[in-house]
Amino acid sequence: MQKVGIFWFNHDLRMDDNAALLRAASEVDKLICLYCVDTFSAGPGWQQPAKLGARRQDFLLESLQDLETQLGHYGQKLVVRMEPPLQAIAQLITVHNVSHLFSSKHVGSYENRIWNTLRKRYSMIEFAQSHTHTLFNPSQLPFTVEQLPGSFSKFRRLIEKMDLDAVISAPLDAPITLPPPALVADLAWQPLWQQHFSPSANEDMPAAMFKGGASAGEKHLTGYFAKNLASSYKQTRNGLDGMDYSTKFSPWLANGTLSPRRIVQQLQEYEARAGANDSTYWIFFELLWREYFQWYGHRHQQRLYAFSGINDSAPTTSFYPERFKKWCAGNTPYAIINACMKQLNVTGYLSNRGRQLVASCFVHELGLDWRHGAAYMEQQLVDFDVASNWGNWQYLAGVGADPRGHRRFDLQKQAQIYDPKNQFIQRWAGDQTLQPLDSVDAADWPI
Ligand SMILES: Cc1cc2nc3c(=O)[nH]c(=O)nc-3n(C[C@H](O)[C@H](O)[C@H](O)COP(=O)(O)OP(=O)(O)OC[C@H]3O[C@@H](n4cnc5c(N)ncnc54)[C@H](O)[C@@H]3O)c2cc1C
Repeated sequence: MQKVGIFWFNHDLRMDDNAALLRAASEVDKLICLYCVDTFSAGPGWQQPAKLGARRQDFLLESLQDLETQLGHYGQKLVVRMEPPLQAIAQLITVHNVSHLFSSKHVGSYENRIWNTLRKRYSMIEFAQSHTHTLFNPSQLPFTVEQLPGSFSKFRRLIEKMDLDAVISAPLDAPITLPPPALVADLAWQPLWQQHFSPSANEDMPAAMFKGGASAGEKHLTGYFAKNLASSYKQTRNGLDGMDYSTKFSPWLANGTLSPRRIVQQLQEYEARAGANDSTYWIFFELLWREYFQWYGHRHQQRLYAFSGINDSAPTTSFYPERFKKWCAGNTPYAIINACMKQLNVTGYLSNRGRQLVASCFVHELGLDWRHGAAYMEQQLVDFDVASNWGNWQYLAGVGADPRGHRRFDLQKQAQIYDPKNQFIQRWAGDQTLQPLDSVDAADWPI
């Protein structure tokens, strides 16, 4: 009997360095390459599909179009379903007599719940998952995932004691062939996409900063290391505006159109060519931060979204709809925050420094429940990554992996350091939408 597999693409939208896809290529006779557009939000208001911001939508669409083209070179097809994966996979299993289900291991508790539900429901099927989103596999870590160190510094020290050249394997090649499609005709998905998501980025918006897809990701990676930017990364990385002050690898890393091991390989080649220094090391250091948050997500699962985070006591913050709305729109009393939020809304991207400032403001100046801020970024960021986003928010809200536990940025001081000439604020008109925090003075409320 023919073996029929489903490959459930998720945050691994590439052909190369994809151990899960290689496995599918070698184990079945026919294959369904599936992607489900299911914008489930783990944030407050979960159980409802989250809206995808215009830039995130466009980036995902381009990534899927590129994947479809690449699969086409193998005589394969991309099946895109606008429905929850549980529903789509169950239907395909029944209709096509599926014997194998493959996917990359995901950090999200929602994705894991679906996987586990399917495993229970279809015990006669073979299930296989591989890690494709991280530099390491759990077996390569010098501790079990359950014993993940409670701080990044401890994690990094343990990782750096290993022989990293030996442990971080070279990226895998793309499969030579793929089994033919089991599903010859499916509904054309792009018209459905337009119905599902209209309107996306409108014409008044400036050109997108990022183009989605593994081909664009590869081009960006090569282009970055062809310049000498990596040699001064440590000095420039806290910039607020522009393409060159940091690597901008995150959008492609987030949906897996770029593999982290491919980046490390290119970084090593750059170091061999141009010389290693503090800056080139610091790119690796930041990739280790990413790695830490991935294992943090695997370790803490549902607690990634808990108000009290991984701590026992909940913060004293709350939810004020007016303050939240003003923060999202960039209408707060803080010019630097307004500029950052407008930049995020228009481009779908925000610098690391900008993210730290807006998160600190959200929690400490506006007194808001951090989960609403994380959920808003989930909607807007082209580089949304469940572990990096929710893990960093926990960190800044003082309920995560920060041993200091309380990081409040002095916004005025930060603006002086990182925007001394007021150029960033002016460019994003942060000082033109200053508004008081509350339209009603607390003293005016009836008692
Ligand atoms: C509140 C908040 C939310 C965030 N949400 C996300 C998110 O959804 N997705 C995301 O990829 N990153 C997130 N980050 C981390 C960081 O801001 C971005 O990875 C970085 O700004 C992306 O730009 P870059 O690729 O030019 O980074 P670079 O400075 O060039 O760094 C290189 C790579 O290292 C990794 N990295 C750098 N800093 C961090 C960090 N603090 N945590 C995890 N990985 C890091 C990223 O993969 C990045 O691409 C968040 C940070 C904060 C403070």
